[in-house]
Amino acid sequence: MAERATDTGDMPADEFRTYGHQLIDWIADHFEHIDHTPVLPAVKPGDISKRLPEDAPGVGESMDAILADIDRVIMPGVTQWNHPDFFAYFSITGSGPGILGDLLSTALNVNGMLWKTCPSATELEQVVLAWLRRMLGLPDSFWGIVYDTASVSTMHALAAAREQLEMQIRDRGMAGRAELPVLRVYTSDQAHSSVEKAAITLGFGHENVVKIPSDEAFRMRPEALAEAIRADRARGYQPVCVVATVGTTSTTSIDPVPAIAGICEAEELWLHVDGAYGGSAAVVPEMQQVLAGCERADSLVVNPHKWLFVPIDFSAFYTRKPEVLKRAFSLIPEYLRTPEDTEVENYMDYGIQLGRRFRALKLWFVLRYFGREGLADRIRHHMNLARTVARKIEAHPTFQLMAPVPFSTLCFRAKPDGMEDGEELNAFNERLLTAVNERRDVFFSHTRLRGQYVIRMAIGNLRTTAHHVDHAWDLVAKTYQELSGNR
Ligand SMILES: *Cc1c(COP(=O)(O)O)cnc(C)c1O
Repeated sequence: MAERATDTGDMPADEFRTYGHQLIDWIADHFEHIDHTPVLPAVKPGDISKRLPEDAPGVGESMDAILADIDRVIMPGVTQWNHPDFFAYFSITGSGPGILGDLLSTALNVNGMLWKTCPSATELEQVVLAWLRRMLGLPDSFWGIVYDTASVSTMHALAAAREQLEMQIRDRGMAGRAELPVLRVYTSDQAHSSVEKAAITLGFGHENVVKIPSDEAFRMRPEALAEAIRADRARGYQPVCVVATVGTTSTTSIDPVPAIAGICEAEELWLHVDGAYGGSAAVVPEMQQVLAGCERADSLVVNPHKWLFVPIDFSAFYTRKPEVLKRAFSLIPEYLRTPEDTEVENYMDYGIQLGRRFRALKLWFVLRYFGREGLADRIRHHMNLARTVARKIEAHPTFQLMAPVPFSTLCFRAKPDGMEDGEELNAFNERLLTAVNERRDVFFSHTRLRGQYVIRMAIGNLRTTAHHVDHAWDLVAKTYQELSGNR
């Protein structure tokens, strides 16, 4: 260590090799034993930060000391998203090949803002997005870009939709312009909050996101959409964009995209499809119909970091109108001009961020390691697991499924005899969920459907087997018995 005090360079290669191997071994051991560790940490707010010093070290520390604190300080507060008993929100996987691809991209540390700043980053991104597009059954007319998250993808879709109006908003802004109509965005009452956040960010205003009612299976009602657009036009408002969802966040319902596309074509509105979760299922040939009608969308987002085993973050955004997106965002300062500008794609032209990580590597590793058939088998497997749980829920005298199960996510609740819909039943299910999660062996989350509190079970981790799913369901049933015994 004395030697290091005078050294002004990076970690020496030998040391990097030693600790790199050690860390990879640590990760491999972690995965091998993950089944025997709790999925949920047992910490209270502040527990982790109070084990950390107030100031950064003045003098460098050894890697031994740093790595020791992973087990001592960090792991006790880690919610294990890569755990086979993680069923909350959407269950995801940072797969082995994905982790290695991410590691390599960090090591190369390129900034793919321009083709020139790393030709491989730009060209691999183009190629893997074309591979993915074909796997999903989308037409070649879709052009792709990688953003960090679906929320950011949807924000870019809304920005392009607004640019398409040709109302000079890019140059003149929206404030203080009496001639500018109120701009309206339509989405279902089941849509993800990112649609609203995009509208807030872009200055449409929260109130101008019109929530179209959904039907009994939580799908947007196209006739209600058509009516809302008609009513808005009658008031002099300007409809801009419709966001349909393939796999909504609460129930994973699928909006009727073909009917919605018909309305958007007739009304000349931008159609954006949010397939953040459900879109990935289209890699399974017999599931490809979930994207029916999406070939008519102006843009679509799918998150490989949700159900295609790519480590977070990776969101694939496709549009048939890249030139509109470019018009919305391209701004080239002198120091970013290159001789190749007319022959290449410079991804910085298609979004708000300049610097871009080499994310394509991790998708490339994942697509090549598993192959299209390997990915399809895994997604099929998750859907089969979900069907077995659905059957158990339906066979149980007290439990009920609260929504159809088009993918691998279930919404259910307990409905004890004599308890009717209402706050008592909601509170009972909330207590049930809390008691199940307090075991720390499994992790479920919840949502509310038409005011009713329901428990959500999302199956999507590569390590999850029938054994994990059975065990998780048994814990719910057992916890229910204990709670109703105490009632
Ligand atoms: C998860 C999800 C999102 C948000 O995804 P991020 O990548 O975290 O922004 C958006 N829409 C739907 C339907 C989702 O399920």
